[in-house]
Amino acid sequence: MIEREGIGGRVVDAFRKVDRALFVPEGSELEAYVDRPVSIPERQTTSQPSLIARMIDAAAIDPDGRVLEIGTGYGFQTALIAVLAKAVVSIERSPRLAERARSNLDRAGLRNIEVHVADGWKGWPEGAPYSSIVVSAAADRMPDALVEQLDERGRLVVPLKRRGSDDVILFERRKGKPVELGLLTPARFVPLVRGGPE
Ligand code: SAH
Repeated sequence: MIEREGIGGRVVDAFRKVDRALFVPEGSELEAYVDRPVSIPERQTTSQPSLIARMIDAAAIDPDGRVLEIGTGYGFQTALIAVLAKAVVSIERSPRLAERARSNLDRAGLRNIEVHVADGWKGWPEGAPYSSIVVSAAADRMPDALVEQLDERGRLVVPLKRRGSDDVILFERRKGKPVELGLLTPARFVPLVRGGPE
């Protein structure tokens, strides 16, 4: 497992700037301040903040970079990435969640974001290449389209289903191929569903 060296200062600052209560369902606002996943509609969850911190820190988001996120959910991680990067493209398969994420992000005053309803397995080639890619649902194999859309030396963080847990793995693209830099942490994610929007 990759040695934990603490979360970088820029990521910590991003957490200070984004109020998670804007990104949970009405009535769950108090849960927003606990380090746990929170249920959102469509039988999905918004990830645990400490896990998001770990993932976006490992993604080494460049302030001038364009970042692709797969699995927008209610948009909390999208908001954090938007604070750290120049632009974010986020892909969500549920139209209902995408619509809500757009309004949450708007309320938070963040504008450098596009949320598209599409199949995350295909990425979003129109916006490529990306300097970092973060996947928020568990894939049963490497989503090759994402590697193709990544800059050379760009980082990809993706939970992969392996032996009973979802291992969050950090990759770097080198000579067009994903090189595994290490395991960030085992975790539990909702599956990265195959097939387009519902
Ligand atoms: N980053 C979000 C995670 C939400 S859960 C957060 O922390 O709030 C994962 C999301 O991935 C769900 O909203 C689910 O609808 C979405 N998802 C699952 N399979 C997908 C696919 N193939 N393409 C795009 N989104 C997908």
